[in-house]
Amino acid sequence: MNQGGTSFTPRRDAVILIVDDAPDNLSVLRKLMVEQGYQTYVANSGERGLEIARRVHPHLILLDVIMPGMDGFETCRQLKSHPATEDIPVLFMSARNEQEDVVTGFELGAVDYIGKPLRMAEVCARVRTQLQIRFATETQQEQSERLRTIVNNMAEGLLIIEADGRIQFTNPACDQYLGYMSHELAGKSISDLLNPLVAGEYLDYFARYAANPEAAHSHGTREVIIRHRTGKSVCMDLTLTPMFLRQPLFIGLLHDITHHKLSEDALQRAAMIDPLTKIANRRHFDSFLEKEWQRAMRTGAPLSLVVLDVDHFKLFNDTLGHAQGDVCLQQVAQAISAHALRVTDLAARYGGEEFVLLFAETDADSAYQMAESIRTHVESLHIPHPRSATSPHITVSIGVATLCPTPTDNIESLFVAADRAMYAAKEDGRNQVRATRPPTTAIEAARAALAKR
Ligand code: GH3
Ligand code: MG
Ligand code: MG
Repeated sequence: MNQGGTSFTPRRDAVILIVDDAPDNLSVLRKLMVEQGYQTYVANSGERGLEIARRVHPHLILLDVIMPGMDGFETCRQLKSHPATEDIPVLFMSARNEQEDVVTGFELGAVDYIGKPLRMAEVCARVRTQLQIRFATETQQEQSERLRTIVNNMAEGLLIIEADGRIQFTNPACDQYLGYMSHELAGKSISDLLNPLVAGEYLDYFARYAANPEAAHSHGTREVIIRHRTGKSVCMDLTLTPMFLRQPLFIGLLHDITHHKLSEDALQRAAMIDPLTKIANRRHFDSFLEKEWQRAMRTGAPLSLVVLDVDHFKLFNDTLGHAQGDVCLQQVAQAISAHALRVTDLAARYGGEEFVLLFAETDADSAYQMAESIRTHVESLHIPHPRSATSPHITVSIGVATLCPTPTDNIESLFVAADRAMYAAKEDGRNQVRATRPPTTAIEAARAALAKR
């Protein structure tokens, strides 16, 4: 394979066209070129030369100037005016080598002008040089074409940024990610895209690199929020790499991670939600309660926990089927969560047909009223329960426990108290609310003892 500009041996498969009206010249040159290993075509007139050039598209044309009919200059003019042949390097050979002839030759687009009589070694050297240039140029063009194709089609957004933050170039993926038309971003500053703090960090890094290119290192990849043209924020991974080409530049690679973020968020949300009822699950409730517990401890506000259990649900399932049971649980869950209205309230499915509700900053009386309201709400759903001994409809038994947590209390005791109240409601005939206070803390016990005296 040709090594292009890095090789000093021209390609052996080079194609040369020799145009000369003198048969002797033609045969000597042809022999010489063939000896060099080039594939050689000959033409004895300008017209014929044009024809062959258009057909075989040689890598180089050796063109005699003085020919009957169309002379070399005219042939060259025609070659240069035709898109199929305009790129082919032309090397004039002529006995007419006055300064003005040579200048005319170059003005017509020739790459070289060799005087006749020809010195064959010199002809070979000049042909070789021109072929090297030709192949180096071709290789460069191919490489830039290849690069352009990659840059234009890559899924990653690419930006070339100058040391002062000015965007010099963006590829179509970058424009598309950020909602711009092509070339619209060039000239803008990265400060237009990033929040001031992040932009400031990058500009500092650019300035450090520009001042000391040897110490430059890749800035690595980081997650950034980029301003879309519409003003909305998009989440991207940005990788920055320095590149010193006459001036310090930075190659930025943008990878859109919005959809990863979305699925990450979705996963996070899914981890907090009960799949059947779509209300909070036990895990979410426990961590929410923990936070509210800590907050109540700081503020001294009362915390109320409500525990609900569907009455005779096993019988409901046994009678109407598990699928109907699922629908019932969904309806009950909706009724319950309709009562968790403040941001500090949370309703959750705690397991099976058991639900919990946390009312922060809520005293025992208010919590009891809320629980009673939930109980009547569920009853009013009128979900038929053909075999319930309590009611012809689905009902719930509810336990409420209220506490102003202190460091000697624990969450477990609040749960135990609410559960006990709920079981008391069951024992007392179900479809009712029972409230209790958890076992008194040492402080409260002492207070109670003092009050009794
Ligand atoms: P009680 O009034 O004493 O609470 O009686 P119960 O029948 O409601 O209580 P028990 O704990 O005996 O039965 C609970 C039933 O809830 C048993 C179980 O099959 C059912 N269950 C638990 N989870 C689900 C669920 O996701 N879907 C359905 N359909 N049923 C469930
Ligand atoms: Mg139960
Ligand atoms: Mg039950």
